Amino acid sequence: MLLYQDIIREALAAGFDLCGVTSCRQLADNERFFRRWLSKGRHAALGYLERNLDKRFDVRRLVAGARSVVVCAVSCKNALSDGYPDGFGAKIASYALAADYHVTIKRMLFDLFGRLRRHLPDLAGRAFVDSAPLLEKQLAVEAGLGWIGRQSLLVTPQYGTFVLLGELVLTAACDRYDAPLRNGGCGACRRCIDRCPAHAVGEDHAIDARRCISCHTVERPAAPAVGLDGWIFGCDGCQSCCPYNRRAPQHRAAAFDPLFDPLAYPPERWMEMTPEEFEGVFATTPLSRAGLERLRRNAARNCAKS
Ligand code: SF4
Ligand code: SF4
Repeated sequence: MLLYQDIIREALAAGFDLCGVTSCRQLADNERFFRRWLSKGRHAALGYLERNLDKRFDVRRLVAGARSVVVCAVSCKNALSDGYPDGFGAKIASYALAADYHVTIKRMLFDLFGRLRRHLPDLAGRAFVDSAPLLEKQLAVEAGLGWIGRQSLLVTPQYGTFVLLGELVLTAACDRYDAPLRNGGCGACRRCIDRCPAHAVGEDHAIDARRCISCHTVERPAAPAVGLDGWIFGCDGCQSCCPYNRRAPQHRAAAFDPLFDPLAYPPERWMEMTPEEFEGVFATTPLSRAGLERLRRNAARNCAKS
């Protein structure tokens, strides 16, 4: 058996800002809500969301013998997370200014796993970062890290929404488990609903992916009818306005330091960029997923609007 205090201490030593532990069980309420959301077609072209539904809502179907999930969060907030200067036409989401978090967080989780193995040498499990059918935001809620905000992101009281998640699913039990926060919740606030430039934040804590700028710039080429509001990759609109982000500190982990200054790359610079420059500056960032052509097209659309 693992000791709760050991897990939390080792997670902080591995560089995470927050950590909680939850037991493995079926998340039936979430499954009902998610199936309703899918049936309305609001996931648009994100077809992968329809796959592996049984595993998504019960981690024991994903990892045989799973007993505990260690949910870790790390802040990626930077100087531009509060917002870009008005009219800037090549805005990039906060998380994408640093090295690809999938790689960074996997490394941190492996470090944590190694540390936990010193406490329990026969420990087995798997590490996940946004890469498997795992309901990671809800697991974070179950582990007491925060709550799901109206814009469907995890809101943590200490670090707001600019946090990235990683999970260790372990076959060992823990001597203590966290519970969801008692005092969490958005209260009367509805800023993210009111500030979303695409009117994509619904009243039911769900995003309409058919409208969302982030989906249109990251997951697939932007549909012609969708305004990008100056974004070329991702969108922080429903986060920058959140009061919990206003008071959150910036990231402390050096791995989340920005690798470039987006303000030095206005739309014109994107449109003139060579593949060599793109490769040289952005190869290790999440921007490489979208590719130069898509970023160029988005920048050109923002230029045409201004
Ligand atoms: S990411 Fe942007 S477009 Fe999508 S819901 Fe948030 S503010 Fe709206
Ligand atoms: S902006 Fe307000 S409503 Fe939206 S997630 Fe933050 S606290 Fe909740």
